[in-house]
Amino acid sequence: MNIILLGYPGSGKGTQAKVLSQKLGMFHVSTGDIFREELAKKSPLGAEVASYMTAGRLVPDKLVLEVLKARLSVETRGLLFDGFPRTVEQAEGLDNWFESRGQAIDAVIFINVPEAEVARRLGARRTCSGCGKIYNVVTSPPAKEGVCDVCAKPLLTREDDKAEVIARRIQVYKDQTEPLLSYYRSSGIFHEADGSLAPEAVAAKIAAMFAGKA
Ligand SMILES: [Zn+2]
Repeated sequence: MNIILLGYPGSGKGTQAKVLSQKLGMFHVSTGDIFREELAKKSPLGAEVASYMTAGRLVPDKLVLEVLKARLSVETRGLLFDGFPRTVEQAEGLDNWFESRGQAIDAVIFINVPEAEVARRLGARRTCSGCGKIYNVVTSPPAKEGVCDVCAKPLLTREDDKAEVIARRIQVYKDQTEPLLSYYRSSGIFHEADGSLAPEAVAAKIAAMFAGKA
């Protein structure tokens, strides 16, 4: 059983991936985590990834795929992808890899959250100026307004979380993801989940789709 989760920034995709991978006994595939593992191992692939990351450049599709394949080929559990693929090229690369192993992706789930709700969620994010802990003034506010629970330093709105920047991030995501959604929509394995519900409800609905299949 192999599943891909897609969703806007702020859709709760990362949270869903964590919950679902536990519920369904799958391996949560996060490129960020796998990159960090490679860097820590100081492997040749890790060094190559690091050369892009330290230069602030996007890791090229080919290299991302190479790192993923190296890690995933030793994984025996079902795979739950979170934040990958990002482009049609990556999606094709992933399809080819599965095909070469006699496997396939069983489902692609788009966690659909209306744009206005995405903007509201991202705009509610506050970051501690001391320890970096992230809060959400709507869903996970600090005990005392504007102050970190952990270190008592003031909470700030990061540049990334300001309204104009959020609008731009949403647009970038849309431009990048629309082709990917059409790619998978035509594949017959595409599903949508209503991401405007509470996280537990979203997880329950998705898990119900796969009850007994993972
Ligand atoms: Zn703090």
